[in-house]
Amino acid sequence: MECSRMELGEPDASGRRRPVAIKDSAFILPLETVIVAIGQSPNPLIKATTPDLATQPWGGIVADDETMATNLPGVFAGGDAVTGAATVILAMGAGKKAAQAIDAYLEGKPYDPQHPACVFSLNRPEM
Ligand SMILES: Cc1cc2nc3c(=O)[nH]c(=O)nc-3n(C[C@H](O)[C@H](O)[C@H](O)COP(=O)(O)OP(=O)(O)OC[C@H]3O[C@@H](n4cnc5c(N)ncnc54)[C@H](O)[C@@H]3O)c2cc1C
Repeated sequence: MECSRMELGEPDASGRRRPVAIKDSAFILPLETVIVAIGQSPNPLIKATTPDLATQPWGGIVADDETMATNLPGVFAGGDAVTGAATVILAMGAGKKAAQAIDAYLEGKPYDPQHPACVFSLNRPEM
């Protein structure tokens, strides 16, 4: 496997420094097997195990923006499996929306984002 040594480049417009390859730093690692252990897309098994679930061409699950409901009744999805590789805060937001919608679904009530059936709050004054 050919690798390159990296260093942090100049800050971009957002102020974030991205890794850039160091010139002429390439080297070869003699390997028999490489296991890619970084998750950047949904498990491809989803399509095989649940063929009726609506998915994007790249494998992401299709879910409603507000309720995170999928096309299958009682099945909700959120986070990277819906958006593709994103951020923790987006995944947490999706989880919160889905929890509210699931609660309404289980109660047999229509989902009202203005008056969610279940409200979460952090009660940690020390934070
Ligand atoms: C290297 C790296 C660095 C990152 N750095 C940041 C950062 O600095 N800030 C930031 O906000 N975000 C960062 N992210 C993105 C962030 O980690 C994700 O956006 C976030 O974790 C998505 O949360 P999730 O719950 O959707 O998915 P995940 O956190 O991936 O959780 C999915 C879970 O489902 C489990 N799972 C998968 N298949 C099955 C199955 N069949 N049955 C049961 N369980 C299953 C997995 O094991 C996993 O625990 C980074 C991601 C990577 C890969």
